[in-house]
Amino acid sequence: APPVSALPPVVGADLRVPLVTGGDVPYANLDHAASAPCLEAVRDAVDAVLPWYASVHRGAGLLSQASTRIYENARATVRRFVDAPPDHDVVFTRNTTDAMNLVAAVLPVGTVVVTFDTDHHAALLPWAGRRVRRVRAPRTRGEAVAALEAELSGLVADGDRVAVVLTAASNVTGELWPVAELAEVSRRHGALSVLDAAQWAPHRPVSVSELGVDFLAFSGHKAYAPFGCGALTGPARLLRSAPPYLRGGGASALVESVGADLRVTWAAGVERQEAGTPNVVGAHALAVACETLSGHWRGVAEHEDRLAGALREGVAAVPGVRPLRLFDDATPSVGVVSFGVDGIDPGLLAAALSAEYGIGVRDGAFCAHVATERLLARAGVGGGRAVRVSVGLGATEEHVDRLLAALRAVVASGPAWSYAQRDGRWVP
Ligand code: PMP
Repeated sequence: APPVSALPPVVGADLRVPLVTGGDVPYANLDHAASAPCLEAVRDAVDAVLPWYASVHRGAGLLSQASTRIYENARATVRRFVDAPPDHDVVFTRNTTDAMNLVAAVLPVGTVVVTFDTDHHAALLPWAGRRVRRVRAPRTRGEAVAALEAELSGLVADGDRVAVVLTAASNVTGELWPVAELAEVSRRHGALSVLDAAQWAPHRPVSVSELGVDFLAFSGHKAYAPFGCGALTGPARLLRSAPPYLRGGGASALVESVGADLRVTWAAGVERQEAGTPNVVGAHALAVACETLSGHWRGVAEHEDRLAGALREGVAAVPGVRPLRLFDDATPSVGVVSFGVDGIDPGLLAAALSAEYGIGVRDGAFCAHVATERLLARAGVGGGRAVRVSVGLGATEEHVDRLLAALRAVVASGPAWSYAQRDGRWVP
């Protein structure tokens, strides 16, 4: 195992939190799947770039030119990070949700959208106004490929244009979908593929070129950059020919006023889908996070696999705890583990882990209600809500050990403190 210092450090690693039972402990951030802590390298890079802060593209001044260069360098870095082919554009978005909604806006008219029903809501819901075919997620990865094949054969026989939405890694179970195979099936049927890489891009190298997907989206805040910037890559021919997703300054090459009417010619380049003043600092932060991760993939994977392995094994061994799984066959995973528990409300369990042990986890249905409810029912737990634990660069072995000890104690004997429900959450 590499020494932990070989990993890029994150900010806030020395944060201590008070316990309701007295004293304080180092905060155990086991909620990386929601948002990961910012890398120190990213914080320093943001600090260094702030003096160069000026609006991009439009200004003639030195700062504006510098800012434009920083922004376009960030685009080139993200392109390298996802290994996008030359005929693809990289568009900066707010996050994965924004990116998916942008895809929904640029898909050719009449495109039928195929999704698996266990996807995150960001992949399930942006397709309003289009025909959507929701495929029931099968029990093995092999069946997923066969199910998509069957679905596409029917649609293509009807002459439909199709876009297939794929998830790289489940935000509920961390399991990896067979993306390359699913993308190959899509391609063979002439369908576009759209990959939600929100839970994958921060953890393993991703290559648009090798996977052969058409669109790929991910969020900076899950990849160790701050909130507010994500990216979408996709074919330039689609992104530059569709009407702008947002209309306004920046996206318009030419606005002519004719009486009360505005005649608009939209920009021909990537800026067509980036209306408004862009998030230069966010793009730079995202790019530095990408670059830093790229230099540490081996260490990142070893660290996460070690923690995730201990977590999975430890959680499964706690009596009454029921881990959730999408697939019955052995499936590679990233460091996300969700479970239901017999006899204790997940919200109460999460509150006790926070208040009595200084551990941050998530409870609920994780914006993937179909998946969470189905997998809980399959595991024999009612209620439709689970607890999710997720690791990454801000998590340590001590955090995982503490979580497992806390879980054993709370599940066996209940919380040590008393809690009340307020506004739907448990509070000490
Ligand atoms: N897809 C997956 C798999 C996710 O886990 C998330 C975040 N929970 C999203 C999409 C949406 O990401 P964001 O909230 O950053 O838009």
